Amino acid sequence: MSSLAVSANPFPVIDAPLVPLVGGEEVRYANFDHAASTPCLRVAADAVTALLPTYASVHRGAGYFSQSSTRAYEDARATIGRFVNARPDDAVIFTRNSTDSLNLLARALPADCTVIAFDSEHHANLLPWRNLIRLPAPDSRATAVRSVHEALRFVDGPALVAVTGASNVTGELFPVAEIALIARRHGARVVVDAAQLAPHRAVDVQALGADYVVFSGHKLYAPFGTGVLIGRTDWLDAAEPYLYGGGASAHVGDATNDLRWHTGAARHEGGSPNVVGAVALAAVCESLMNADRAALFAWEETLRTRLADGLTAIPGVRQLHIFGPQAPRVGTVAFTVDGYPADLVAAVLSAEHGIGVRDGLFCAHPLTRRLLTEAGVAPTHSTGCGTTGRPQVVATAVRASIGLGITVDDVDRLIAAVATLAADGP
Ligand code: PLP
Repeated sequence: MSSLAVSANPFPVIDAPLVPLVGGEEVRYANFDHAASTPCLRVAADAVTALLPTYASVHRGAGYFSQSSTRAYEDARATIGRFVNARPDDAVIFTRNSTDSLNLLARALPADCTVIAFDSEHHANLLPWRNLIRLPAPDSRATAVRSVHEALRFVDGPALVAVTGASNVTGELFPVAEIALIARRHGARVVVDAAQLAPHRAVDVQALGADYVVFSGHKLYAPFGTGVLIGRTDWLDAAEPYLYGGGASAHVGDATNDLRWHTGAARHEGGSPNVVGAVALAAVCESLMNADRAALFAWEETLRTRLADGLTAIPGVRQLHIFGPQAPRVGTVAFTVDGYPADLVAAVLSAEHGIGVRDGLFCAHPLTRRLLTEAGVAPTHSTGCGTTGRPQVVATAVRASIGLGITVDDVDRLIAAVATLAADGP
C-alpha cells in the first residue's frame, strides 16, 4: 500500500481506550463510526473544563458568572458564524443536533412553502418536511441538478430545496452549489444538511449559495447536545417560536394574548441553553479554522482511499455507491461481504478485533435499500419494522467511517479483519 503523504494526525482527539476481545486480550478501540459520532477533540474537552467552574445561565443574571457565561455563549455563536462564513445578518441558532435544526426550520417555513428533497436524504432531512416533493435518489451529480430544475418548474410560491452536503451512507458529495444556483434562478431557497460535510470539508454558506445550513456538534469532535441552524432571518422571525417559554419571550402581559416574542436567534432558543456545549463546539470550530485544513482533508482522503482500495481488493466485498466509485466523497465506506449478514460482520469486527462499525440501513432507508438492490445483495437481516408489522427479511450493509480518531494502523486492521472473514467463507 502507498505510504501516507501526511503521516501524523495533526489534531489530538481524546485517546481511544483499550477494549476487551472475546479471548480476553485487550486492543486499542478502532472507532470506525465517526459518521455517527466523532471522538472529542482535546480543545473541546479543555474548553468544557475551563468553563465549568464559572458557568451560569445566560442572558438573565447580573452576576459576574452570568455575564461571563453570556459573553462566552455569544462569542461561541459568532465563532460558528465565521466557521461557515455566514452573512452578517444570518441567524446562528443553537439547537440540540441537526435533527432539531431541520425540525425547527420545517416549522418556520411559510405555510404554502413546497419542499423538494431526494430520497437519498437522511431521515432527519426527509421526515420533518410538510408539502414535500420526494425526488428519486439521483444516479449522477448531473441528474441531481437536472431533477431539481425540473421539479422547481412546476412549483408556485415559496420553495425550499433540502439537500445533504455529503451522504451519510456513502460519503458522496452532492453538487450543492450547482443545486443552489438552479434554486436561486427559480426563486427557491436551499438548506444544506452539513451533518456529514462539516467534519470533512470547509462549509462556506456564501460560496455555496445556501440559505440555511445545519450540523451537529457530536459529529464535529464536540460533545453531544449541541447543533446549529444558520441562515436567513425573515422566515424565522415571522414564525412562531420553536419552543414557547422564557428566553423566547420579549414581553408577557397580564392578558393571555398580550405577548411579544424576540426576533433573531433568541426567538427559537426558549429555555436555558446548553452553554457548555456551545462553547465546546466553538472551540472545535476555532481550532479547525486555524488549522491547515487542506492538509487535514488530504490526510483524511489518503486514509479513505487506503480503506476503499483495501476493501475493493477483497473478493466477495461489495461497496455501495450513489454516483459511482470515482465520485468525490468524504470518509465513509458502505459495504457488504458475500455470504455474511451485515450484523454478523459488525459483531465479529467488534468481538474479535475491537473494531466499531455501524450496520443496518443508516437512517436512510430508501437510499440504502436501493443501493443494496442495485448491488445484488441478498436479504439476510430479520426485522420487525415491515409495513405488515411482521418480521421481514431485508438486506443491510456495514458502514465504516473515518476521521481524526482513525490511524493508518486502524485502517489496516479493518482491512485485514474483513479479508480474514471473507476468506473463511460463510
Ligand atoms: N443528517 C445527516 C446527513 C446525518 O448523517 C445525520 C446523523 O447521522 C443527521 C442528519 C442527524 O444528525 P443528529 O442525529 O445529530 O441529529
